[in-house]
Amino acid sequence: MRKFIVGNWKMNGTSNDLDEIAAISAVAQLYTLVDSALCVPATLITRAVTAVGAFPIGGQDCHMQRAGAHMGCVSADMLSDAGAVLTIIGHSERRAAQHERDADIRAKAEAAKAAGLQAILCVGETLEEREAGKALDIVLGQVAHSLPEAAAGAWLSVAYEPVWAIGTGRVAEPSDVADMHAAIRAALVARYGPEGEKIRILYGGSMNGDNAAQLLAVPNVDGGLIGGASLTAAKFQPILVAA
Ligand code: 13P
Repeated sequence: MRKFIVGNWKMNGTSNDLDEIAAISAVAQLYTLVDSALCVPATLITRAVTAVGAFPIGGQDCHMQRAGAHMGCVSADMLSDAGAVLTIIGHSERRAAQHERDADIRAKAEAAKAAGLQAILCVGETLEEREAGKALDIVLGQVAHSLPEAAAGAWLSVAYEPVWAIGTGRVAEPSDVADMHAAIRAALVARYGPEGEKIRILYGGSMNGDNAAQLLAVPNVDGGLIGGASLTAAKFQPILVAA
């Protein structure tokens, strides 16, 4: 399976950063054996698409409805109209701060698919859950309840992002990543049959140029979802090299 390396800019970036976005895309396009993409704030999508040419630009999140009275929200159709080809759904920062539940995330994934977007659906346990020995149960519960029936196929990726590893510099142990990704793979195959083998499972959480090779060598780690180390071409490139 081709590795998928995706940058997640979160709430970072203004027009001042379009040159960096162009630099990231130029670097990424050198690595033709790796799939890559960059998810930027909605306000930058159209200008980012203009800045990068053929490189895939994604949005972040989307509403579960196609349109309507939802103040301040952005629909999947709007992301697509702006030029995005993918979006990230169910990120722990939204599960926590926006109180998103599995059912919401599932509906958002369906909305993304209906709009023709690829989706990266995030799952992951908190530190308390891991320390209580509940990590597998929590993550497999999220997989069971937030993935839509139509998940099978290459339009969807799952990102395992342990909450305690995001933005902390603390990376999950490769053996724990191996166990979790194997369990997610087994759940996907149990539910979708052979199609479940085609869903890429990304790791996210403090991935950078120093640890990417080790993490990406773990079985069933089919790529990475990268926050801080995707903000500059200089930091993103070593991850592409490792992939
Ligand atoms: P960091 O790479 O900054 O830890 O962020 C990971 C993440 O949340 C990507 O979605």
